Amino acid sequence: MSKNFVIGFPRIGEQRELKRVLEEFWAKKRSFEDVLGVAAELKKRHWEYQRDAEVEFISSNDFSLYDNMLDTSIMLGAIPERFKSLKNEDLYFSMARGNNSCVAMEMTKWFNTNYHYIVPELSLEDNYVLDASKIIAEYNEAKKLGIKTKINIIGPITYLGLSKRVDYGDVYELWSKIVPIYEKLLESISVLDDEITIQIDEPIFVKELDTKVLSLIKPTYERLCKVSTNIKLAVVTYFEHSSEATKILVHTPIWAIGLDFLYGDENLNSLEIIASSGKKVIAGVVDGRNIWRCDIEKTIHFLEDIAKVVKKENILISTSCSLLHVPFSKKYEQKMSGEIKEWLSYGLEKLDELSLISKLFFNKDGLNQAEKDELCKNAQANESRKNSNLIHDKAVQQRVKNLALLQRDGEASKRIALQRELLGYKDLVTTTIGSFPQTPQLRKARSDFKAALISKESYEAEMKKYIDECVAFQEEYGLEVLVHGEPERNDMVEYFGEQLSGYGFSQNGWVQSYGSRCVKPPFIYGDISRPRPMTVNWIVYAQSRTKHIMKGMLTGPVTILNWSFVRDDMPRGEVSKQIAVALSDEIDDLQNAGIKIIQVDEAAFKEGYPLRKEKIKIYEEWAVRDFKIAVSSAKEQTQIHTHMCYSEFNDIIDTIENMDADVISIETSRSGNELLKIFKNAAYKNEVGPGVYDIHSPRVPTVEEIVDQIERLLEVLPKEQLWINPDCGLKTRKWEEVKPSLKNMVEAVKIVREKLNG
Ligand code: GLN
Ligand code: ZN
Repeated sequence: MSKNFVIGFPRIGEQRELKRVLEEFWAKKRSFEDVLGVAAELKKRHWEYQRDAEVEFISSNDFSLYDNMLDTSIMLGAIPERFKSLKNEDLYFSMARGNNSCVAMEMTKWFNTNYHYIVPELSLEDNYVLDASKIIAEYNEAKKLGIKTKINIIGPITYLGLSKRVDYGDVYELWSKIVPIYEKLLESISVLDDEITIQIDEPIFVKELDTKVLSLIKPTYERLCKVSTNIKLAVVTYFEHSSEATKILVHTPIWAIGLDFLYGDENLNSLEIIASSGKKVIAGVVDGRNIWRCDIEKTIHFLEDIAKVVKKENILISTSCSLLHVPFSKKYEQKMSGEIKEWLSYGLEKLDELSLISKLFFNKDGLNQAEKDELCKNAQANESRKNSNLIHDKAVQQRVKNLALLQRDGEASKRIALQRELLGYKDLVTTTIGSFPQTPQLRKARSDFKAALISKESYEAEMKKYIDECVAFQEEYGLEVLVHGEPERNDMVEYFGEQLSGYGFSQNGWVQSYGSRCVKPPFIYGDISRPRPMTVNWIVYAQSRTKHIMKGMLTGPVTILNWSFVRDDMPRGEVSKQIAVALSDEIDDLQNAGIKIIQVDEAAFKEGYPLRKEKIKIYEEWAVRDFKIAVSSAKEQTQIHTHMCYSEFNDIIDTIENMDADVISIETSRSGNELLKIFKNAAYKNEVGPGVYDIHSPRVPTVEEIVDQIERLLEVLPKEQLWINPDCGLKTRKWEEVKPSLKNMVEAVKIVREKLNG
């Protein structure tokens, strides 16, 4: 008995096999049988990996063809009206991706990860009916291979909490309709075997829940535990501590409680009550969200501390959450420096860590030679990481420590007045957010250059040609503050990461983002510095092609951080401070080269918010500080813009104000007017560019629509305070959409200006 537990395993496949077959199926190049074939192969492979690593609790139903929340909706029969005539895979993928006649269901982020789930649409009128087929089939599939799994399901309280009511009521009103379906599900599971473990994921328990929701926990789990005596229920939480819920769960007949000890320190305070309840603790100690090799010795000490409170036999050693959030295996990383590779641990390697930790913890003297060697290797790798020159850069550390310049000179209103005078732009000045369509030709030029198939000269010539075209187009269409179009960037974080020291890249570090889509986040392993300017040549070139103002374009420190795997040997805020310092040098270089407006994108600023209210303040403090450090080098006359990709500013307007950007552009297309009221009520004085049309749709907005939109904006804020722009970058759009849309935008501004000037 190794008593170890894996909350869930990645499913996209180590070579992204699932992605490939799904996309070919959607393109009608392969059959659904092919999809099922690949899925079966992957499930088998993943179970076997876990079995071979001696994992005791291996999951079934952690696999999904698209998303587990969507699977849960199917399980509950929670099918929105518009899809009801469809069946099987047609139904499933239409819910996920839409079809010719129905829009897809909404997708949103799974807690504070970069995984996105399909948001259930519920209504009081609906009748829910159980479909346990997937769950039962997967259990039997593993059983046939000789692997007895625990069954993973998303818990009813989390499911409801993440749903939306299409009839606008409270989602928890549906509790009494949903719980009976879960009871039926457990009934059907109970006949599958003599004894069965079910893992119920309730990550919503880590959020501060109101008393009404907390009051549902006890009845839910009392009812579910009553269904059958041969079912053991493990309620699993992750990403933060779940103190409030744990206090209630210990008084229910569940078998085990899963706690994340890496991202929820406070869970330690719950150990005593769990111990006295006699329940098992599933101790999440192997990081399911980051890619660093576990420090096994440290982890053993930590577990020994837990064992001072909870009996050893009641401890199960686990990943902190599903391994879905880390890449698959290091074995495909052939290009990475050997030293760095030793510091990393992806999904498969984490299985081995888990197994070694549990052997060491439960039977220290039972290690064989290979395991002893592995332990030594672990200690050596962690030692090397602590001391490596690749990580520690004294100059950076000194500079960050002694930083004197923490914010720009001058008060905002004076700065902006000065800038307006120097830059001479009109009211309702038009601009765009930075990128223009990424064409196949651009992508090819970049990848050919990376693969050394084309020379630096021809690559640069290609990029410059694109910049020229962008400049010419913007001039022709009458845009006023121009951008260079970002042809040289395939991604707004990777581009900077590639040029900063302290950043690493993987070849195969893919992580599922949604459906078949994966991202490959770069990783920060060491102190960050900027060996040379990163954007200056491109922007200066672009500026040289026009008399208009060319806006410099950077990604902000917080966004760079939030879209990377971050070193775990330093607080996140310290890492972002180093990035900020590097960016401040870039800004200084840009302004010295004659660039007068610089945009610092903070697309992922909001994403980094902690799940717990109690931690928000600390995050905001360092996030704002680091944005300000990044722009601290900007002279008063250099205008700093920022851009944010969302429109929920209610809670964070003060924080936005503290960032003190001269101009902020935001995503607002739906109700710019409502959004602006938040700015108005907060007496926001700086300039604002609320997106006047939605770039996420291929639809071209009409002139009238935009005029209308601008007029509504003017009801809230004066013309002097407003910029006119689309609501995000245009890289995902086609030129055929971008050109007429911007033409209409400029035309609309002209009409509004004429009206205003009477
Ligand atoms: N400047 C970036 C662009 O236009 C901003 C992207 C974003 O906000 N996600 O593409
Ligand atoms: Zn955006």
